[in-house]
Amino acid sequence: MATKEFKTESKKLLDMMIHSIYSQKEIFLREIISNASDAIDKIYYRALTDDKLNFDKDNYYIQITPNKDNRTLTVADTGIGMTEEELEENLGTIAQSGSLKFKTENDSKDDHDIIGQFGVGFYSSFMVADKVTVISKALGSNQAYKWESEGADGYTITPAEKDSVGTEIILTLKEDTDDEKYSEYLEEYRLRQIIKKYSDFIRYPIKMEVTESRPKKENEKEFEEIKEVQTINSMVPIWRKNKSELKQEDYDNFYMEKHYGYDKPLRHINIQADGMVRYHAILYIPESIPFDYYSKEYEKGLELYSNGVMIMEKCADLLPDYFSFVKGLVDSEDLSLNISREILQQDKQLKLIAKNINHKIKKELEKLLKEDRSQYETFYKAFGRQLKYGVYMDFGQHKEDLQDLLMFYSSKEKKMVTLNEYVSRMPEDQKYIYYAVGESNEKIDKLPQTELVADKGYEILYFTEDIDEFAVKMLIKYKEKEFKSVSSSDLGIEDEQDKKKDEAEEKANKNLFDKMKEVLSDKVKGVRASKRLKSYPVCFATEGEVSIEMEKVLNQMPNNENVKADKILEINTSHSVFKALKVAFDLNDQPKVERYTNLLYNQALLIEGLPIQDPVAFSNSICELMN
Ligand code: ADP
Repeated sequence: MATKEFKTESKKLLDMMIHSIYSQKEIFLREIISNASDAIDKIYYRALTDDKLNFDKDNYYIQITPNKDNRTLTVADTGIGMTEEELEENLGTIAQSGSLKFKTENDSKDDHDIIGQFGVGFYSSFMVADKVTVISKALGSNQAYKWESEGADGYTITPAEKDSVGTEIILTLKEDTDDEKYSEYLEEYRLRQIIKKYSDFIRYPIKMEVTESRPKKENEKEFEEIKEVQTINSMVPIWRKNKSELKQEDYDNFYMEKHYGYDKPLRHINIQADGMVRYHAILYIPESIPFDYYSKEYEKGLELYSNGVMIMEKCADLLPDYFSFVKGLVDSEDLSLNISREILQQDKQLKLIAKNINHKIKKELEKLLKEDRSQYETFYKAFGRQLKYGVYMDFGQHKEDLQDLLMFYSSKEKKMVTLNEYVSRMPEDQKYIYYAVGESNEKIDKLPQTELVADKGYEILYFTEDIDEFAVKMLIKYKEKEFKSVSSSDLGIEDEQDKKKDEAEEKANKNLFDKMKEVLSDKVKGVRASKRLKSYPVCFATEGEVSIEMEKVLNQMPNNENVKADKILEINTSHSVFKALKVAFDLNDQPKVERYTNLLYNQALLIEGLPIQDPVAFSNSICELMN
């Protein structure tokens, strides 16, 4: 019996499989089962067009048989089978499967990626078996053939005995080692587990003899072990069922089964798309944040199936970062099983699916906001930050999509409000959307800068997360209304009369302000009379793009030190402290002017939550005053 050599490419791949250190060797079963399912598909389609062939569903199945005595695992199917030539062609040569090409081009030393991401078909059996035997009888043929190989040395093809049409793959498992227990693939529970994990939704029954412990008929207290053939896979996946058949409970159970989270999902989305690209998807919006969500360890992605067979556990390309909290899966018959990750990324179908999904998630969130405000707020508490990142990311490319999902705490309503709600109740004379930034709502409530805007009766949005102001800077406007910080130098509130008064005030105090600026030197950009202060003596306003809160955030980042906001020290000229300062200035009491100026400056720093450069000197100054 002549041993035939594998084609060069096949030999390479085979070699890789034999010496694989890939940890998820279990996927060999997924590959074999999916080949078997394809073979049954082929006979099924043949029957559709061939009247002589009668497709009786019960006759088509996949049978798994472990045999501990022989150390073999057999996967048999009743599919279309292979002729001698087909055995030669299909198993002796690796088809133009993208995987090896990728491997050679990238010349990676590691087989991890290639196996994990692609699936490598039939040859993956050599990860667990040192001998693989294929006995097959093709449809319409009288003779069966046996293909056999013990690895890279080659294979043989000989005539064989087989009654029915179909294929049997017999794996003789490798000997157990300290690191690898190949015999686990002979254990019933383990096989069940692998089938459930990867092939649960294969359309044909995957049968296996299982041992069940049951109460005896004659005495219910006693148990007996019964062996019977059972179908292991559930065959019809939840996402292929009619929507009307499914209850909330089914979705919740599926979420649990899939270990998408330990919480209950807040919302589910069931998509059955039949347009440009055909796919089914079940998506979930979780209720609470996974513990690692805001860490580097968190990986976004949806499970990806090609016609019922899982091809990727986390396909990141299906979700934009701002929806990275979404869990679930996508199954499309338009995707090939052995598609590589690299090719997948450019896959037009996948891009279409991703776009479509993105749209559906957005719509679902909008619906949630409209229909169940308190649930939306629960969601927003957990993932609102991610949406705000979404507005900011990619140069604001997604801002229009996301702006209506944003919420901020309102000074007036004392609860979370949307931008639309804010804008729709703006008084006519209000030109801007005002916001104030601080550590907490309580702290912002007390910010001196909010006084004038609040006095005017305008609503103020409270920004308490570091991303907030960055997101809004990216938005610039909402419904033609610009955002404005209550700390910005020009609030856009005063009328002509106010302006004249201010100018007069400014003029009257010019010398004193110049002096104060001289004392503070480049710590501030200027000193001026405040328009916004009512009861407080002092605060900061900022000019330019960088606010004080942004200065804080940016300075915490590595390589980004020394970003400074342009601060203007604003003085409440009606305040008694200022009056005292003015008296000292008029009396030419230099030390007092300096001390007061520094004190006011430090107070402004404290109000903003910024550190005082010299706390001891500040404290001494206060003590002097108290004496
Ligand atoms: P792929 O499935 O990606 O084509 P494989 O290496 O897994 O690559 O299989 C090679 C070919 O062998 C298949 O395309 C199919 O034609 C044939 N084949 C494999 N298993 C079976 C089977 N159980 N029944 C019929 N044909 C099979």
